[in-house]
Amino acid sequence: MNQLGNIRVFGTGITAHVTALLLANQGWRVHASAPRRLLEGRSQRDVRAYAINHRSRATLEASGVWPHEEGAPWVTAINQMRVFGDLGGQLTIENQNPDTSAKGHTEPVAWMVDVPALEDALWEACQKQPLISTMPDGGDTPSHSSAFDLTVICEGRSSQQRQRQEIETDTVNYPHKAIAARVIADHPHGGVAQQWFDGERILALLPVGGAQGRSLAVVWSLPASEHRQWSSDTSAENTEQLAIALSTASHHALGQLRVTAGPVGFPLSVSQATRWFEGQTVLVGDAAHTIHPLAGQGLNLGLSDAQTLADCLAIRKRWEPASAPRLMQRYQRLRRADTQTMQWATHSLFHLFTNPLSGQVPIPWVRNAGLSVFNALSPVKHWVQRLGMGN
Ligand SMILES: Cc1cc2nc3c(=O)[nH]c(=O)nc-3n(C[C@H](O)[C@H](O)[C@H](O)COP(=O)(O)OP(=O)(O)OC[C@H]3O[C@@H](n4cnc5c(N)ncnc54)[C@H](O)[C@@H]3O)c2cc1C
Repeated sequence: MNQLGNIRVFGTGITAHVTALLLANQGWRVHASAPRRLLEGRSQRDVRAYAINHRSRATLEASGVWPHEEGAPWVTAINQMRVFGDLGGQLTIENQNPDTSAKGHTEPVAWMVDVPALEDALWEACQKQPLISTMPDGGDTPSHSSAFDLTVICEGRSSQQRQRQEIETDTVNYPHKAIAARVIADHPHGGVAQQWFDGERILALLPVGGAQGRSLAVVWSLPASEHRQWSSDTSAENTEQLAIALSTASHHALGQLRVTAGPVGFPLSVSQATRWFEGQTVLVGDAAHTIHPLAGQGLNLGLSDAQTLADCLAIRKRWEPASAPRLMQRYQRLRRADTQTMQWATHSLFHLFTNPLSGQVPIPWVRNAGLSVFNALSPVKHWVQRLGMGN
């Protein structure tokens, strides 16, 4: 394969290694960073599991890491999503693709993916791709920068390279923090993802461990003061109390829950970089934007960044540099618009369901009636559904 030039990718998460694979597949020589946990070892169980939409699945397929066989243990299909308001409002989401439902089978709405397993599969694929080499020092040496046609920063929300480039972000920190954990339930989840908005907290129980499993990934968005109660004390007694609180908050929909890993705390913010590129440097993933996890879209946006960046480089004229302003501006324009739409929708939902004023009548009625009306409005519902699925 013809080598087009040298690209350096900072970061060791999913977006970094997907970007490396997509660009190497085009013929770029990519210099990537090895996962840090290979160097540091795994000290505790990683509880992260993310919902992946259809567009992200296609990107993971193009990267060569989506499992060929159905039923790979680290991927669980979500066949239905149920969202409950605090006064009985309910929204149900299924994949109503007319092509497949006419043939008698429905496609999943999304897939839950075990993050450590996906990260391992990506790094294995990077090591097998001859055009990807590992940066010995993490590529951190400033003198190296002129040797690269493009530097892609995928270092996550606290990116140091972004700060070095003096790229600012517009950030709003939520008054909430998230707890992530794994639980096992009395009853099988049946591939259904469920979410409850109770006026102050947002709880999601997400199916993992296969279609017939009873294991769930928990994402619980809580006021910061309450969050401290669960995250600062990891004693067995407190973990048992957490299981009781989660069972109650989920209305015992799957019976009693038992915590099997975690809890781990995450700060929550909505942010966007003021510019997505600077000279020969471009931002991808959480380094460019963050979003509240209530709609499970953060990584999906990051994977769309990686795919769009690769698509922009694919239309490069032979005489153009990889960092040509025409290409970088196109990338920024496409990704900024998509990201802002999703951030606006998620931010509005967060405030509609958790704002202190939202406890006053008629706002709870409006939001619950809104969920049910929305559930009945097929065209609007399908449009939002398609947006969330990445179509
Ligand atoms: C509780 C919770 C639940 C979520 N659920 C979902 C979901 O269901 N679906 C979804 O799409 N999104 C979800 N998200 C969002 C998702 O976690 C992020 O959007 C996604 O992880 C961003 O990926 P990234 O690769 O851009 O950044 P990160 O995942 O932060 O990865 C960046 C990595 O690079 C490393 N790094 C930083 N600096 C350097 C350096 N100099 N050299 C080498 N490595 C470096 C970091 O240590 C880090 O490991 C959730 C987020 C939270 C908090």
